[in-house]
Formats: sequence, C-alpha cells, structure tokens
Amino acid sequence: MLAAIAARRVAELSCMDFSITLLERNSRLGTKIGISGGGKCNVTHQGTPAEMLEQGFLRTNERRFLRNALYGFSSSDLLELLHSRGVETEARADGKLFPLSGDASSVAMAFEELLKELSVQLLFSSRVKSVEPKGGRFLITTYAEPLTVDVVILATGGVSYSKTGTTGDGLVIARKLGHSIKEPSAALAPLFTLKAPPASLSGVSLRSAGLVASAGGKTIERRGDLLFTHRGFSGPAALSLSRDIAELCREFGGAQLFADLFPEHTPAELDKLLLLHARKYGAQMVRKFLQICPMAPFKGAFSEAPHGTIPTALVPFIIRHSLLEIDITWSTLHKELRQSLVAVLKRFPLGTVRDVQLDQGEVSAGGVALGEVNPKTMESRVVPKLFLCGEVLDYAGEIGGYNLQAAFSTGWTAGTNAVKKCSALFLRA
Ligand SMILES: Cc1cc2nc3c(=O)[nH]c(=O)nc-3n(C[C@H](O)[C@H](O)[C@H](O)COP(=O)(O)OP(=O)(O)OC[C@H]3O[C@@H](n4cnc5c(N)ncnc54)[C@H](O)[C@@H]3O)c2cc1C
Repeated sequence: MLAAIAARRVAELSCMDFSITLLERNSRLGTKIGISGGGKCNVTHQGTPAEMLEQGFLRTNERRFLRNALYGFSSSDLLELLHSRGVETEARADGKLFPLSGDASSVAMAFEELLKELSVQLLFSSRVKSVEPKGGRFLITTYAEPLTVDVVILATGGVSYSKTGTTGDGLVIARKLGHSIKEPSAALAPLFTLKAPPASLSGVSLRSAGLVASAGGKTIERRGDLLFTHRGFSGPAALSLSRDIAELCREFGGAQLFADLFPEHTPAELDKLLLLHARKYGAQMVRKFLQICPMAPFKGAFSEAPHGTIPTALVPFIIRHSLLEIDITWSTLHKELRQSLVAVLKRFPLGTVRDVQLDQGEVSAGGVALGEVNPKTMESRVVPKLFLCGEVLDYAGEIGGYNLQAAFSTGWTAGTNAVKKCSALFLRA
C-alpha cells in the first residue's frame, strides 16, 4: 500500500502518468494491520530513525540494511501521512504509537481511501501465481487475467499467521526469479514447553527478569517481562528471544529455558546479599522473605522494588527446587542450602522447548537475502526492475511498532525508486 502511494506521489511530482496496479489475494487490504497490536495497531514507535534502528533491530546486518529506508521515510513521516488522513495517534509511556481511536482498521482504511484517490487500480482476490521476465517486461500470472508490466514490487509479507494470506508465495516467486532465500523461521512467537507450566502459574508475570535459553553449550539471554501461559511462556522477553531460541532448536533439536530472577547480580553478589540479610533477620522464614523480595534489587539492598517482587505463586516452586523445608528460617539455612537457593534464583528451570512454531509468530524471520537487494532503492540486484519490500525480506524487528514501520519505510523506498526507474525507461523510449 505504501509502495503504491509513494509511487503515485513521485509520478505526480514528475508529471508522468503511469498506471499503478495493486494485486491483493484477499478480498480486502491490510488484513494483518487489522489484527496488529491486538486489534489496536501499534503502528510505529516514537524516536529518531537512529533510535528506532538501535531499539527495534538487534542484528547488525539488518540494521545496516534498513538504515536508508528508515531515514527516507521515518516514523514522523508516517505520522504526518496518517494525521493528514484524519488518523490521530497517541503515544504510550513506553513509546509505542497507536491510532487514538484504538481501531487498527482505521489505518488500513486511511491507506485504502488514499490509494483510491490516487487512482491506483486495486485488484482484489487476485493471487499472483508467478512473475516472469518477458521481452524486457514482466508477465504476471494470476488465477484470472495475466498482466504485463514494466516494473514489479514484491510486497507479499512473511509466512506467519498464514490465514491472513501470507503463505510465502513471494518467496517462491523470488526464488524462481533467481533470488536466494534464507529459510523462514519463527520470531516474536510464544514459547511452548514440552511440559506445560503448573496451572497455578498460568497468568503470572515476572517483571524485568532474565530469560535464559541454553543448548549444546550455547547460552542466550534477554531481559524483560515474562508471562507464564497455559502452554509455556509469552511476554516481551519470550517474544524477543523466540527467534534465537528457534535457531537453537534448529541446531540442537531443543533448548532448556530458565528464568534469572536477579539478572543484575552475579551468583556471588546475590549470595553476599542473602548472607547479609540472613544475619540481620535470622528469625524470618525464607519463604516469607521471598514473597516480599524485590526482583533485581539495587546493589547492596533488598529495600527497593524497582521491578516488582517475586510473584507469591512462584515461591513454593522456588523453595521446592532449592530443596528447602517450607518453613525454614534464615538462621537455620546453612551455606549449602543458601547456595542452592541462589542457584535456583539465578536459574529457575522453566522447561524444554523443542521448536518455536513459525505460524504463531507475529513476524517470520528469514526471507529474500538482504545482500541481493539494494538498500538505497529496494531494487533487486539479481533481477533489474524488480523491487522488494517488507517482511518478504530477511529481517525481523522487535515488538513495539518496528515491523510495521520497517514495512512502510521499505515500501516507500521501493515505490519511490520503482517510479524513478519507470521514468528513466519512459524517457529513454
Ligand atoms: C497478530 C499480529 C500482530 C502484529 N502486531 C504488530 C504491531 O502491533 N506492530 C507492528 O509493527 N507489527 C505488528 N505485526 C507485524 C506486522 O503486521 C507485519 O510485519 C507487517 O504487516 C508486514 O507488512 P508487509 O506489507 O510486508 O506484509 P503484510 O502486511 O503481511 O502484507 C502482505 C500482503 O500480500 C498479500 N499477498 C501475499 N501473497 C500474495 C499473492 N500471491 N498475490 C497477491 N497478494 C498476496 C497478502 O494477502 C497481504 O495482504 C503483527 C503481526 C501479527 C501476525
């Protein structure tokens, strides 16, 4: 949608009249936008392009690839466009931006109205089967009439939530055209453990914990809120680490999950803190302390709770895993038991994941290899006059509006440059 809008705007500026056609396999536009952000659409994130790149894209090569596009069409440009179409937005305290109406469909509707005003031909229920170079142009085959065009922009999305229309057609098309495809894998997906967490923990959340995954001697970690669900784990830490966990599972056939309840402390630091506490409050039951104990306390004290306390429902499990008697007090907790408690607090076992389900992810990682696309224009380096944008490309952003912004920015870049290419062809002819 953004590619077509940008294409028409540039065409108008250069006083060129092109026919622009958007082929959509669904009967309406923006199905994924409609379900994004739980139906509220976290449309982008506050911040400069540099901040967005830093916070939203953790892999260096992806950040490098997206840089031009995010500077070329930033979150401010997107907001200006939305506001000009009557979609007011609001920023949450964490920087996520949503339409003020709380209605995700208002975003897709605004774009659709604009596309119609810009005389972009919208062909619904038009699933593209193939794109083939033919006589210097492209033959596009659909399940209805074929089309012959000068320039193609492939914006078919990722492969998760396939019910929305993203079944990976674009990857098949790109591969046939000679592109390398990095095999898609899950990202921003919930984690399902072989054995579900105890029912009493379902819905419990750990504030600002460390989620640790290990397999084959490799350990990865992400800091953030973690939610116990009836099948495993969700919440920002789980979603963010799911891409790396999917890779661990692919390499080693599974991964062990642990929660670090004191991610700001080494085991030795935590042991020292507990010892100081034990000396002061010998008569206190350890479980009572755990119920009020702040997670990730500031150095040297348990007096402040910047990130919340250990959830009460979790305490019996901590006690059991540490092999402590339920009513043990600090004065009777000898060194080995204290160290066992420290070990569990630093590495509370959460279970085993065998794989991360691709279709459950808010996005999919993998896709058309970034090295084969010019980041300044989004034109293919393999097939001239073919442009690619959005999730069909091999990048995946974090939760927070970064994925939609990346799709909008790369789409804008592709649309702008596709028309420039068309103009050049036109002038040459
Ligand atoms: C549940 C959920 C919630 C999300 N929430 C957020 C959020 O709040 N914020 C955020 O930033 N990101 C969110 N995302 C991710 C975001 O929606 C996507 O990253 C983004 O939509 C990708 O944009 P795209 O244009 O590349 O692909 P898409 O939006 O997937 O669009 C691709 C379009 O191509 C069409 N298509 C596919 N194949 C063909 C074909 N052969 N012929 C014709 N048409 C075809 C599809 O029908 C689809 O309409 C969420 C995703 C999901 C699944």
